[in-house]
Amino acid sequence: MDGGIAVAAELQRPDRYGWFQTAREVRPLIPRGAGMSFAAASFAADTVSIDFTAFDRILDFATATGVVEVEAGIRLGALFDFLAARGRYLPIQPGHPAITVGGCVAADIHGKNPARDGSFIAQVESLKLFHPDHGTVEASEDKERELFRATCGGLGLTGIIVSARLRSKPMPAATLDVTRRRVANAGEAAALLRSSSAERDLVYGWLDLARSGAKFGGGYVMLGDFSARPDRGAAKPLASSRFSSEARARLPLPLLNRWGAWAVNGAYRVKLGISGGGSSLADAQFPRGASEMFYRLFGRAGFHEYQAIVADARYPDYLAFIHEQAKRLDVVLCLGVAKPFAGTSDFLRFAGDGISVAVEVPRGGRSDAFMAELDRFIVAEGGRPNLIKDGRLPREVADATYPEIERFRAFRRAWDKGGRFRSELSLRLAL
Ligand SMILES: Cc1cc2nc3c(=O)[nH]c(=O)nc-3n(C[C@H](O)[C@H](O)[C@H](O)COP(=O)(O)OP(=O)(O)OC[C@H]3O[C@@H](n4cnc5c(N)ncnc54)[C@H](O)[C@@H]3O)c2cc1C
Repeated sequence: MDGGIAVAAELQRPDRYGWFQTAREVRPLIPRGAGMSFAAASFAADTVSIDFTAFDRILDFATATGVVEVEAGIRLGALFDFLAARGRYLPIQPGHPAITVGGCVAADIHGKNPARDGSFIAQVESLKLFHPDHGTVEASEDKERELFRATCGGLGLTGIIVSARLRSKPMPAATLDVTRRRVANAGEAAALLRSSSAERDLVYGWLDLARSGAKFGGGYVMLGDFSARPDRGAAKPLASSRFSSEARARLPLPLLNRWGAWAVNGAYRVKLGISGGGSSLADAQFPRGASEMFYRLFGRAGFHEYQAIVADARYPDYLAFIHEQAKRLDVVLCLGVAKPFAGTSDFLRFAGDGISVAVEVPRGGRSDAFMAELDRFIVAEGGRPNLIKDGRLPREVADATYPEIERFRAFRRAWDKGGRFRSELSLRLAL
């Protein structure tokens, strides 16, 4: 997904633990998972990316507790299949099965109801982290706590996560009952997202981008609960996917222009209006058929995503602002998704009380000016942008919106003294 940033970098893909003996010679370096982040977090100019996907084994599974230990290069789809066959699952997962556990820990990703479930750190019992100067260190909430907290959400800058022990939960059913509620405007959507977040297993809003004026921000809120009806069998294994950052960028010209976005969103609106009912847990966790097609349509030029948390009360004004700026700058809004959040951020963790809004626009034209306008709103309102979703977020904006960024920098200076680890993102944000 690395559209927009071109650098000459080296890639190594070790597949033996012997590689760690030579790691002191490799510098500067940065770990890489599936390379599916929208920001350049796993590569930089003149830096060696360590692709960790060959380390993808399940090391241990405790039937009594459901704790599973995995190598960090394992993909979520493979782990989903392993756990589903044992009647278990991970409640907090991002939306694509090719993403790795290492990428989830390092970006401290969120799932389908972050207000209730928190972020990935909530299901990590412990980690093994390798740093060439410190060797392999075990970290958890009880042991090396600062290192643990700086690594979960630390964007690969504290070392290579070798393995993780994760707390899975019993899977109540292989299907979710999903209700789609039509909402007339942003205020209605915000109220429903918040009031549903305490109980639902899945809560998010889809913004109907064809609406304008006070109705912009209306659309559908999706509410999902594990089905109480008996399952007709265990969860089906996920089909494998060839989707990758390279595969995404094959179309030479974008098809998600004004008319393309209108057609795609219109078709989705019709689908939401007529369908409903059940969804397999796998499809609800990883709605990948639609998203793979969608991301391919942006073509080689790619897209910008801006995801930020704003206070519930400011959500309607923020949406009105997005709409106004997109119109003024002639930028095509292609996707809008809202999720309820809660909690406090520490180090670089993307958390906070409020509703997150993610909008996607094609790169090019005045899209950079549009993104800069959103920066301005978010800084003025005390919101928080998601660092892993934005390939151009300036340092001043990160400094103004992450109260603990200086503590992260200080931790890094002490832990990674020689500055071995770096990425385009860390250089841009002076992490
Ligand atoms: C279709 C799609 C849907 C998504 N949905 C969501 C969502 O619902 N919620 C959400 O929060 N995010 C979501 N994301 C974003 C995605 O979860 C993150 O960008 C994630 O970090 C990608 O993981 P990756 O394996 O591709 O890692 P990469 O993109 O390769 O790397 C991401 C970061 O992790 C670090 N890293 C990777 N492996 C290791 C390791 N072994 N040790 C240390 N550091 C490591 C890298 O250095 C880098 O900083 C989505 C992305 C896509 C493409």
